[in-house]
Amino acid sequence: MTTDFTQTRAMFDLPDGVIYLDGNSLGPMPRAAADRVAQTVTQEWGKMLITGWNKAGWMEQPTRVGNRIARLIGAEPGHVVMGDTLSIKVYQALASALEMNPGRKVILSDTGNFPSDLYMAEGLCRTLGPDYSLKTVAPDKVMEALDDSVAVMMVTEVDYRTGRRHDMAALTARAHQVGALAIWDLAHSAGALPVEVAAGGADFAVGCTYKYLNSGPGGPAFIYVAPRHSDVARPALSGWLGHESPFAFDLSYRPGSGIERMRVGTPPVLQLAALEAALDVWDGVDMADIRTASLALTDRFIAGVEASCPDLVLATPRAHAERGSQVSFRHPEGYAIMQALISHDVIGDFRAPDILRFGFTPLFIDAADVDGAVEILARIMRDSLWNRPEHRIRARVT
Ligand SMILES: *Cc1c(COP(=O)(O)O)cnc(C)c1O
Repeated sequence: MTTDFTQTRAMFDLPDGVIYLDGNSLGPMPRAAADRVAQTVTQEWGKMLITGWNKAGWMEQPTRVGNRIARLIGAEPGHVVMGDTLSIKVYQALASALEMNPGRKVILSDTGNFPSDLYMAEGLCRTLGPDYSLKTVAPDKVMEALDDSVAVMMVTEVDYRTGRRHDMAALTARAHQVGALAIWDLAHSAGALPVEVAAGGADFAVGCTYKYLNSGPGGPAFIYVAPRHSDVARPALSGWLGHESPFAFDLSYRPGSGIERMRVGTPPVLQLAALEAALDVWDGVDMADIRTASLALTDRFIAGVEASCPDLVLATPRAHAERGSQVSFRHPEGYAIMQALISHDVIGDFRAPDILRFGFTPLFIDAADVDGAVEILARIMRDSLWNRPEHRIRARVT
């Protein structure tokens, strides 16, 4: 299978003239999503009313869609389920994993992790008691920090700020060697590069769908539990839809079989409809082709910016194996520079304190977009177009 990216590009509805380099933060709208959501609202909700849970398959939707995600992350079918937001899924994975490693009380993560993952770990430790703690080390020190005190290693494969990528197989193997469990956050990997959770040995994996998978704002997250654990892991968020028999309305909780137990409450049916339409785009896509195209785009952008913007400092690793699908540059005026770029219809984003972040998503970005973005960025830097009061006004979302 070879992916035809002109075809996938045509499947997105992007505003004219915009170069959208922020699909790593919020994927653009697949053309089919609007109709799919409208149909779910009018034909399913509107006509079927409550019978839609059975007739339209809403109740099975979280596992049905989970199976389509499984293909993209190298998971065994039947071991991924959708629901909630990523922060919730991080909490669930952590709580189950800690319980499976009694006697150890340390969660190991790194300082490049996304803050919400760390906050969820802190909150969980507080609930579990003073013996539990979160330890963070620099991203390149995770390997050596894995020792027999660590209960769970929880890391994000691709750093949201720099685009640096961890070696999943190597870190997981070391975690297992010291008796720790491995949780992988795939927020910036799923849909960005080939991921192999089963081959990589991950115990749990979690991720969101509104970034590279294009499910739209508020799209649900996913959780993977390795088959060897899925009937053992005990859900901390023991909601009724993770119960063995939700409609028995028992007074006490019995976990459902396998991955079903990681469901919590009512699934977001409308968001899942948007996601299903978004996943249709992936049906004809080979992840290896995505990776080849993504590396070519990120290489091209790095070379172009370095040749024309000497004041911007590359924050992303040059080695292909250590890179996700984004490129970041540092500059003390990064915020204003990004605002100037956005005002010229090149959309990336800014991450404090000084990172300009650009996502490259071959489904809808090509070499001409890269060249266009480089040209505009070069002009903004050369003519100091960022140096205007309006570009310094901080919005709530950066
Ligand atoms: C985007 C992202 C999140 C966001 O979590 P939500 O609960 O979906 O808002 C969490 N963790 C990582 C690593 C992320 O990149």
